[in-house]
Amino acid sequence: MSKRDYYVILEVSRAASADEIKQAYRALAMKYHPDRNPDDPAAEDSFKEASEAYAVLCDADKRQQYDRYGHSAFENGGPGFEPGDFGAVSDILEGLFGEVFSGGRRKRRSARDLTYDLEISFIEAALGVEKRIDVNRPARCATCEGSGAKPGTPVHKCNVCQGRAQVKYQRGLFAAARPCHACRGTGKKIPMPCEDCKGSGTRMRAESMSVKIPAGVKDGAVRTVRGAGEASADGNGDLHINVKVTNHMLFERDGADILISVPISFPQAVLGASVDVPTLDGQVLMKVPPGTQSGKVFRLRGKGIPVYGGYGKGDQLVTVVVEVPQEISRRQRKLISELAQEIGDESHPQQASFIKKLRGLFDS
Ligand SMILES: [Zn+2]
Ligand SMILES: [Zn+2]
Repeated sequence: MSKRDYYVILEVSRAASADEIKQAYRALAMKYHPDRNPDDPAAEDSFKEASEAYAVLCDADKRQQYDRYGHSAFENGGPGFEPGDFGAVSDILEGLFGEVFSGGRRKRRSARDLTYDLEISFIEAALGVEKRIDVNRPARCATCEGSGAKPGTPVHKCNVCQGRAQVKYQRGLFAAARPCHACRGTGKKIPMPCEDCKGSGTRMRAESMSVKIPAGVKDGAVRTVRGAGEASADGNGDLHINVKVTNHMLFERDGADILISVPISFPQAVLGASVDVPTLDGQVLMKVPPGTQSGKVFRLRGKGIPVYGGYGKGDQLVTVVVEVPQEISRRQRKLISELAQEIGDESHPQQASFIKKLRGLFDS
């Protein structure tokens, strides 16, 4: 099936503001929300389609990528972006539905979502990494096959709720329902509980799974693995992986750009030099031209981090810092004094101009 244009889906113009896009999505979400269209796969598809469109167009970076490259921005070419994997969608929906459906929550599986905190290094975040993680996950008890009853013993309906798991009560003008206390919302009465799971039907099981973290992931990002949460008969919850990126000894990060400071000596700054600079691709020799000032920034194009969920790579910005010797010998002091006289004022045009301005400040 060919994908429809995101602007067409949301019925907005390409120039629509962030607010217009949000309004449009909200209207569509209201119309097609699964709670309002139970057992209607067409509505569900429309809902998902609108959600995907919104997930891209509500994010300024992704929207820009989409405007430039269309759907292909998020297909195989886009580094670290798996098609259809909008990790943030569920979060966006949660956030939005708090406003949109103030009354009723989205119809949920009984299985809960799980979270996992994953720490990765700066380099792993920059290059992408596949991590094996052990998740303690509630799963169906093998002994009772999830029934909660000791094998060979019966499971009865709860006699308080007649097996409906919830009891109705009057709330103002409306009939409302709450989970049945007698059976803790299970609808079952189990005379002889399974010994392994104490009648719950689930047991914690450590499960090892492999998680792909795409290149360019940022500290604090959440990756969602569908169906890897709590397991239950009516479907699994999701696993939300909170990504924590540790600091690097030399590199810092600004979006897709890598920042680094490289110290050079006074003679190197004056005479020019080639200095070793570490990059994600390994060490490179960077030319510092003669007469380089401290604080000068050099840009190594394409040596940055892949744009997360987008296209291309950032740059590496190398700030050169001139290091002044702090402890010098008698002979060095003498030589530098001689050098200072030899160089004189005219070799320091910035300083000369500063002093001139300084005088002007008090003369007028
Ligand atoms: Zn059991
Ligand atoms: Zn009950």
